[in-house]
Amino acid sequence: KAKHNGKGCYQFYNASMGIGDLNHLAIEQSLHSALANGEFQLVYQPQLSLSTNTIVGSEALLRWYHPVMGSIPPDTFIPIAEQAGLIIPIGEWVLRTACKQAKKWQKLGYPAMRIAVNLSTRQFEQTNLASMTADILQETGLDPHYLELEITESMLMRNVEHAIECMEEIKDMGIDLAIDDFGTGYSSLSYLKRFPIDRLKIDRAFVSDIPQNGDDTAIVLAIIAMAHSLGLKVIAEGVETKSQMEYLADKCCDELQGFYFSPPLLPEEFTKLLKKQNFVLPSLDQAD
Ligand code: C2E
Ligand code: MG
Ligand code: MG
Ligand code: MG
Repeated sequence: KAKHNGKGCYQFYNASMGIGDLNHLAIEQSLHSALANGEFQLVYQPQLSLSTNTIVGSEALLRWYHPVMGSIPPDTFIPIAEQAGLIIPIGEWVLRTACKQAKKWQKLGYPAMRIAVNLSTRQFEQTNLASMTADILQETGLDPHYLELEITESMLMRNVEHAIECMEEIKDMGIDLAIDDFGTGYSSLSYLKRFPIDRLKIDRAFVSDIPQNGDDTAIVLAIIAMAHSLGLKVIAEGVETKSQMEYLADKCCDELQGFYFSPPLLPEEFTKLLKKQNFVLPSLDQAD
């Protein structure tokens, strides 16, 4: 397979390569300059409390607009950035940008909300994750209690003991931890109680067919019950309909995120949503 060989050389096209490989190569090469060219942007998807009906957080999601290839989805380029090691500087940019934005909303007088940032496997396994995060918090002035890092089950299960150590270091700094896409991985339930986590995010695969699908409702109910009995909060991802929302509220799911309430938004659009919530705002005019 064509890829960077790690020594600064590229393998060139050969006859056995398909369109997918070429695409991969083009994406990888463009990723090298995407940060410097300012091609990345973060969008923010609101997270709504089902008990207060207010926005209590947001998830930062990365967007890449390539000048020629156009918009490339994160599910396509993040695995490539991960393989090429580029996810380290990109991930750092994401964290810094998200913390800066969260702090900005706080300074504008909006009630403080959590900002959730996705971590990749390489970032999680990076030895200086905690110190890099501490530096960014200090630089941006964001209180660590408002930051949440999202990790997936597979990241945790690669090396359980190391994962626990790493999570404890992050928890000790006052940062929250969430397990993303919960239910799709292979995490052992016996480990769940050992992981210092705050929140489970129910994967949208289980949400899309509730309340009609009996298997999915059973899974969702089990996740909510288990999370609550372990003292964890639960957020449902990918909520798209009123009946899904009502079902989740009825079953005491804590929060939701999904197109039903709002898609991921540019910062200025998110600010408009915050304004609609009837908060007491000291300085609406400079909001961004
Ligand atoms: P994720 O962290 O599970 O993020 C949720 C994804 O679901 C987002 O896709 C979001 O736009 C989408 N979504 C939200 N509500 C709905 C809904 O109601 N219906 C449907 N069908 N989809 C919904 P997106 O932005 O394309 O991101 C895909 C994945 O890429 C993310 O999944 C995450 O794993 C990864 N990703 C995104 N940004 C970053 C980042 O900054 N760093 C890393 N490491 N990964 C990221
Ligand atoms: Mg996520
Ligand atoms: Mg998810
Ligand atoms: Mg995901």
